[in-house]
Amino acid sequence: MGDVADVHLPAGFIRAVSAAADQEAVLRATASWMPRIIAAERSSVALPLDDHNLAIRSIGGTVPLSGPTIHPIAGSIVGKAFRSKKTIVLDDLAGLDYADAHALNKAGLRSAIAGPLLSGGRCLGTINLANSKPGFFSDAHVELLESIADLIASFLNVHQLAESEKVRAETDDVTGSLSRRAALHELDRLFQHPGGKPSILFIDLDGFKRINDLHGHRTGDGVLRQIAERINLLLGPDDRLGRLGGDEFIAIVSADPDGERAAGLAADIVLACKLPALVHGVRVATSLSIGVGYPHSPDIDTSTLLSDADHAMYTAKGCERSIVIADDLVRRQVGLVAAIDEEMDAAMDRGEIVFHYQPVRKLKSLDLVGAEALVRWNHPEHGPVPPPLLIERIEATGRIPQFTTWAMDRIARDLQTVRRYVPDFVGKSFALNLTPGQLSWSGCADAHAQTCDRYGFDRADLLVEVVESSEIQPNDAAEQTLKKMAAEGAFIALDDFGVGHNALAYFTRFPIHLLKLDQSLVRGMAENEAARSILRGLTSMARELGIISLAEGVETIVEEAMCREAGIHHGQGWHFGRPIPIDDFTELALSELGGIADLAA
Ligand code: C2E
Ligand code: MG
Ligand code: MG
Repeated sequence: MGDVADVHLPAGFIRAVSAAADQEAVLRATASWMPRIIAAERSSVALPLDDHNLAIRSIGGTVPLSGPTIHPIAGSIVGKAFRSKKTIVLDDLAGLDYADAHALNKAGLRSAIAGPLLSGGRCLGTINLANSKPGFFSDAHVELLESIADLIASFLNVHQLAESEKVRAETDDVTGSLSRRAALHELDRLFQHPGGKPSILFIDLDGFKRINDLHGHRTGDGVLRQIAERINLLLGPDDRLGRLGGDEFIAIVSADPDGERAAGLAADIVLACKLPALVHGVRVATSLSIGVGYPHSPDIDTSTLLSDADHAMYTAKGCERSIVIADDLVRRQVGLVAAIDEEMDAAMDRGEIVFHYQPVRKLKSLDLVGAEALVRWNHPEHGPVPPPLLIERIEATGRIPQFTTWAMDRIARDLQTVRRYVPDFVGKSFALNLTPGQLSWSGCADAHAQTCDRYGFDRADLLVEVVESSEIQPNDAAEQTLKKMAAEGAFIALDDFGVGHNALAYFTRFPIHLLKLDQSLVRGMAENEAARSILRGLTSMARELGIISLAEGVETIVEEAMCREAGIHHGQGWHFGRPIPIDDFTELALSELGGIADLAA
């Protein structure tokens, strides 16, 4: 059967390879048709086993070309064809030192041929045949095998392209999790699953923009990858993780209609992501905000589920909680907002809304230089009201003048209390926070001036903290207020000063006395040199301008030491003291500065 001159490719073979749904099917069809095209007693197709091309596996065929279906690339006939990218013809297998030649020989086969499947200079695999007659495969066989190999390689190529295109569209390049489209598709699919509807977690990385700004996008991507890896380790086999874009992920928790598994998972994920990520030798602190959505009513659809979880995630961010469960949130939030709106006035009158004071210290001597007033309302039914939510409701319900006047008076009265017991507190200030909305109120500067006058304070005694914000536009009402206050002697602090917005522009717009460096900068400083240089740069710029610098959110002794080393003047944070009620603060000041208690002693 040496004559192949009149061999045509059978129509059945062409049909089979054209109809194959994927690469594997093309190869199986090839392997099973080959013995009918070239009279061979054994046939197979081999593919590299992994990306390293160290081994090759046979698939399909009448029976495998040789005993084992995995061949080492070194020391096998198929490996030699694969590596040399040339057709190998062996006329007599007896005595050859190839693992597969041995096996074939033992099975009574004497000659073999292996042809590479070449595409664009790459070898995709090999087609292999064996016959019991020595010297069976002629030049004509080689030619035929090579033209079949060309044909098959081009089919493989088309499938490979289609498959990688599909994978690309379904996979997020950065993290390897599902793409947004694929994740939403999975959610729809699992929603129809008879085993029970899924719940979802909306996961957002806190301060990702700052991570990118501070460390660069490559590190940012590395952080996202590590977060995805940690989450993946915690997911069950049927759960799915997708990246919705930016720093937002969705975890789909399969068959979890009451959201119980999702809630547990959310807690585990928060914990797992507490450890800093280590990217290219840089330690990056990470924290997450998670919104949990679950199908709490029978007629819920996927878009409601998504918006519930999204909303819950934003609420978590707003009130500095890591996890908020949607249903719980809707119930609580609606009740809480209504309670705030209805009871706020009475709560102010009754003294239920108060200010706590967080100490500010000189970094050199750790001496107390003052405190920041932070609003606190422990609602009897709903628990602690997040300060940003309270302020938002004050603004939304048109209570800015009333609240601002009241707040200034309370803080001044508290300062008077401390000074009464601790005479050395004179010259030290209390800081009050004012939002751009509060500063836009036309009576704001006058209220500040009148409060100071009423208590006999210098204007600088009630320091004004204003958040670095894109809401303060040049020459708008808020900026006018700041200019007026400063002209009358008030001290202005730029709060949460970071790397966002057009921050440096503020220095030319109104006088600034204190620069409060945001805690994300402080946190970053402990982790990398870039953040340390930014802080050093900002600090020396502040010094040049005669502005005092303050590090916010100092939590550890290491951060304290670094801030001091960077030349920052003041520090505030849990490491130096939490916000505390006025009585406790007075006692603290008394114990450090001395005063009436000393006189009594
Ligand atoms: P802020 O003015 O930047 O206040 C600092 C916030 O950081 C406070 O949160 C404080 O409790 C927290 N903090 C202090 N030290 C540390 C630390 O070491 N680590 C961490 N992780 N956090 C620390 P709080 O009291 O929840 O206030 C949040 C924000 O709400 C304030 O940020 C301020 O913008 C606003 N706010 C609070 N009270 C008032 C107020 O009376 N009026 C206005 N307009 N805004 C207020
Ligand atoms: Mg502040
Ligand atoms: Mg701040």
